[in-house]
Amino acid sequence: MKGSCPLRRTVLLLTLILVGGPLAAQQTPPAEATPPEPPATVPQQSPGPSDLDVDFEFEDEPAETFGQILAPQVLDLVLLSAFFALALVSFFRKNVALKYVTLVLAVGYLGFAKSYLISVVNLFGLVDWSWPEVKYSLGWYLLAGFTVGSTILWGRFYCGRVCAFGALTQILDAIVPARLRVELPAAIGRPLAWTKYALLVGVVAYYLLTRDLMVYRYVEPFWMFGLSESAALWAGLGVLLVATVFVRNLYCRYLCPVGAFLGVLSALTLFRIKRWSECGTCRICEKTCLYDAIRGPRILVAECVRCDDCERVYADSETCPHWLIPVRRLAKGLPALPRAPGR
Ligand code: SF4
Ligand code: SF4
Ligand code: SF4
Repeated sequence: MKGSCPLRRTVLLLTLILVGGPLAAQQTPPAEATPPEPPATVPQQSPGPSDLDVDFEFEDEPAETFGQILAPQVLDLVLLSAFFALALVSFFRKNVALKYVTLVLAVGYLGFAKSYLISVVNLFGLVDWSWPEVKYSLGWYLLAGFTVGSTILWGRFYCGRVCAFGALTQILDAIVPARLRVELPAAIGRPLAWTKYALLVGVVAYYLLTRDLMVYRYVEPFWMFGLSESAALWAGLGVLLVATVFVRNLYCRYLCPVGAFLGVLSALTLFRIKRWSECGTCRICEKTCLYDAIRGPRILVAECVRCDDCERVYADSETCPHWLIPVRRLAKGLPALPRAPGR
């Protein structure tokens, strides 16, 4: 039987190309968003036998062992876990330097090296209830599980620390001189923020009607990390990035359907940013928020990406005056105000 091995390999290769490719694109971040020569550890490129709706039998092919399946994914799992650990440490310590190290790694490793991003294609998979086979896709499940879990625990943590494109725009924001910034008036910016929800509904409805996965290219720029796509799309991305120089976090704040989805999921968030009753009159950290997520005493969890900026103000007794107001109330013999719940 040894002589038939090359033939079997050829048939399997053709099958993977003809059948596995579209399936993988349906269930995972778009194939176009992966580097041209994806490493063997990218699970979506290795659909398992049950993904292939073809009745090939390779009787003398030994079944893969757990070790064989795991081995090409171990490095990925370790690096992803280390990245998440770093992201969490930077988040809990509210450490600016660690946060920027996390953002740089998000761009370099999750973005350009792996193209690990949550995409609208994954939302299409949610609609179809079609998922990558777990054993070949451990890294992807780790990313997806961390994204959903962290959103339920803290809100759009994925947007503030993990998403490679969001990290890129945050780094851009830190580099670009403030004098170039254009702050959109609230009367324009706040209604504009609803655009991303409209895009989310529109793109999912379009997919339901057409089953056209490739629409993702027109609503999100994550394909850029695969360094692929047409000149027209690169030109569009160039316009978006130049516009982001002037209007900070433009795509994340106004256009991203994945951000909108995570914003909706954030309604479940358990651990929200603390607010004080005094926050109703003080606007200091409202001005700090680059995502326009603070409205007086309220923080809109759907817009907040847990960037830490307001929490650093909150923790700085020289900047945040909430502690002064109770002192004054006490001096006047007034009862203490109750702490406002996080909203
Ligand atoms: S809003 Fe979209 S692009 Fe921005 S960080 Fe979130 S998922 Fe990424
Ligand atoms: S600076 Fe302090 S008191 Fe003012 S809004 Fe922020 S948390 Fe509240
Ligand atoms: S400044 Fe505060 S409210 Fe605004 S995005 Fe950052 S963590 Fe959220």
